[in-house]
Amino acid sequence: ARGLTKVYRMGAVEVQALRGVDLDLYEGELVVLLGPSGSGKSTLLNILGGLDAPTDGTVRFQGEELTGADDRTLNRYRRDHVGFVFQFYNLIPSLTARENVALVTEIARNPMAPAEALELVGLGARLDHFPAQLSGGEQQRVAIARAIAKRPDLLLCDEPTGALDSATGILVLEALLKVNEELGTTTALITHNAVIADVADRMLRFADGQIAEIAANARRRSPKELAW
Ligand code: ATP
Ligand code: MG
Repeated sequence: ARGLTKVYRMGAVEVQALRGVDLDLYEGELVVLLGPSGSGKSTLLNILGGLDAPTDGTVRFQGEELTGADDRTLNRYRRDHVGFVFQFYNLIPSLTARENVALVTEIARNPMAPAEALELVGLGARLDHFPAQLSGGEQQRVAIARAIAKRPDLLLCDEPTGALDSATGILVLEALLKVNEELGTTTALITHNAVIADVADRMLRFADGQIAEIAANARRRSPKELAW
């Protein structure tokens, strides 16, 4: 991403959400985005994922220009290359865990089996449970399985533990770490959990629509070594 700005206009009111953000995401890395409410984290993630367009600046993915690309290119990018996980799981209540994941794998280019994706996030014993029969953390892990089952190149997570207590949130973060390590999925993660910043490859701190600080970790720690 180069020179990203985003101005939201609501009638006469203008909010400048991003003020010139440059960012490179490297294949396989896990990047954590921290920063106060309203600093532009979600705006950036939505632009990177092709859900929103910048006011100015450009996004390239694997050498291809996405900003201003035609609908076909953008749809293909969103469908085949990007997985999203949000604070709220948005599972379909009338479908089982496996069926929720299958909704995505049926249209994916190179999917894994739904059971395999659920196994990876520790839900191999919950395949036929409905969302109402799962805990919040389990539901979020189904949402992660759904996001990764198409083998996206880029996994974008916007406060995936925001609705969970801290112990449950850790299980969800561990599932994301495992996906990053085992599948090598490039991951950008917005969180308020400072501990995860220590296991990430890089931490980006946002302030007022800009990246105020970038810290790289020399050594990647395995989740098991962490004193959660
Ligand atoms: P939080 O930690 O609270 O989620 P954030 O860092 O994700 O905050 P953003 O959601 O990116 O922040 O919002 C950045 C700024 O842009 C805020 O001032 C917000 O009010 C504004 N904003 C975000 N989305 C819109 C929108 N769709 N329309 C108008 N203003 C918006
Ligand atoms: Mg946000």
